[in-house]
Amino acid sequence: MTTIDSLPPLREVIADHQLSARKSLGQNFLLDLNLTAKIARLAGDLSDCDVLEIGPGPGGLTRGLLAEGARRVLAVEKDARCLPALAQVAAAYPNRLQVIEGDALEINPLEHLTPPIRVTANLPYNIGTELLVRWLTPKQWPPFWQSLTLMFQREVAERIVAQPGTKKYGRLALLAQWRAEPHIVMSLPPGAFTPPPKVSSAVVHLTALPEPRFPADAGTLNQVVAAAFNQRRKMLRSALKSVSPDIEDHLKAAGIPPTERAEQVGLEAFCALARSLNPGT
Ligand code: SAM
Repeated sequence: MTTIDSLPPLREVIADHQLSARKSLGQNFLLDLNLTAKIARLAGDLSDCDVLEIGPGPGGLTRGLLAEGARRVLAVEKDARCLPALAQVAAAYPNRLQVIEGDALEINPLEHLTPPIRVTANLPYNIGTELLVRWLTPKQWPPFWQSLTLMFQREVAERIVAQPGTKKYGRLALLAQWRAEPHIVMSLPPGAFTPPPKVSSAVVHLTALPEPRFPADAGTLNQVVAAAFNQRRKMLRSALKSVSPDIEDHLKAAGIPPTERAEQVGLEAFCALARSLNPGT
């Protein structure tokens, strides 16, 4: 029988199961269990929560989450080669780890988890921002999750916490800060991963706010900020032309000078613009 103490070191797991890293799956593994335990602790108190983990790989962070007391972990992994290693972890923590082989973009976690739910992941970089935007833009709020604790490339992490008037400020900052409280809680050099990626990484912890900071329809706000920052050097009256033929009137109604550029406009004003465009909210 596999027990917690008899789980082999992750380097052995990788060698035994021939888990050579695949670039196409964004595989940069964390093999230091002290580090994965630390990331699990950054997620907050897990004891009364179910945890959704995207991309468990050989299971380093999964072990951290279970050792830190997560009630249950649902781990969604696309690479079938990782399943035997994850089965060993599941055997060491009876009834607490469920592994689904599949694409994180296609599963509905609520079919498998009971609230309160926290999401924790060393994300595959190719789908990280897409998943984050999805988790931040459901129609209804509060969302299914209480917090997200996610690894990103450092540059993406900085975009999530960026303030107006800076180069990094844009759609990610606005969506994240509209309905959540995001903080960078850990920085990691490339050497923390096997194999090392080209750039540094950072863990961002986002807590869901009970209500958005300002009312707006999620789809409209997402559409407006995407268009505004797609052409961030243009004045908003031309950058947002595709959103509405009457965009100048809507900008004025929201108190935004039509000659302003997206970088200078704060969250409250973007929400006012979304409400003018979609008054049903
Ligand atoms: N959590 C592990 C760790 O920290 O060592 C692995 C992290 S690695 C950066 C990303 C993981 O996500 C890989 O195991 C990869 O196979 C998996 N993955 C990639 N695309 C995925 C997808 N669409 N759905 C689910 N898992 C995916």
